[in-house]
Amino acid sequence: MLKRSVLILVAAAASLLALSARADYQPQAEQVVDNVYAIVGPLGQRSVDNDGLNANFGFVVTPKGVILIDSGASLLGAKKIEAAIAGVTDQPVRWVVNTGSQDHRWLGNDYFAGKGAEVIAMSRTAATQAEYAAQHMDGMKRFLGERMQGTQPLPAVNTLNGESATLERGGETLELMYTNAHFPGDAWVWLPKQRVVFSGDLVYVDRLLGVLPWSSVKHGQQAFKALAALKPARIVPGHGRVCDLAQAQRETGNYYDFLADKVGAAAREMEPLTETLDRYADLPAFRHLENYEGLHRANMNRAFTEFESQ
Ligand SMILES: [Zn+2]
Repeated sequence: MLKRSVLILVAAAASLLALSARADYQPQAEQVVDNVYAIVGPLGQRSVDNDGLNANFGFVVTPKGVILIDSGASLLGAKKIEAAIAGVTDQPVRWVVNTGSQDHRWLGNDYFAGKGAEVIAMSRTAATQAEYAAQHMDGMKRFLGERMQGTQPLPAVNTLNGESATLERGGETLELMYTNAHFPGDAWVWLPKQRVVFSGDLVYVDRLLGVLPWSSVKHGQQAFKALAALKPARIVPGHGRVCDLAQAQRETGNYYDFLADKVGAAAREMEPLTETLDRYADLPAFRHLENYEGLHRANMNRAFTEFESQ
């Protein structure tokens, strides 16, 4: 009996500790070029410590205010991003541009909108945000618990029509283009003057990209080729460190090619799934990437399913 109550006490103390766990992770801004900055998040999973900021964000400082690219996964995450920006400039965030509809791309929108920022995205991005809002809020509550309090999902308010769109804000030009890779309606943001692209969840480096049930490998392969054609000087990937095109090609472009050209071809030729996955289980070109062990087989499985039905 005594033993049991001690156990209960220990369990209670442990959960209290979890609740009061300080979210110590504070993102830092790093200069990409001129007035363009990246905030590179950790490669691992969403956690109480990182407030769901396990992704990359970025911003452009203009004389009229800051253009923020992606707003974080929660109210508290948005405040951490704001603090990282304040380390670089006194200018407020006046514009938020979303590259996607996955939690960490936009659940901070409401916080910045409440401070007067205009929230902008391609129209299909905003539509997908609305569609997945409840699911992503539930998911984030499982990861962050109480630290999600006060977070309100606000899909982008100012939506841009067409397959691509040019945005002029604060004297800067931003070109948005759909990638439709990780989520339907995902887009990149290209800064033609600085030759920097914020790829959103199209490009992953340092860690293996994830193919989700709603991702499209076919679109990813096409979009990566279009991105390479821009010949960007620097790429701020969705996840991983700021990189050049050669690294993005090795760690993302070649992987999309592999999934489409090898796994996709096997699916179209109706080869057995398990044999295909076994054949490509060990790929020396990618196995150094974080999350390879956890994701590679599932990625191939989803690619197979996508190409099988085409
Ligand atoms: Zn992501």
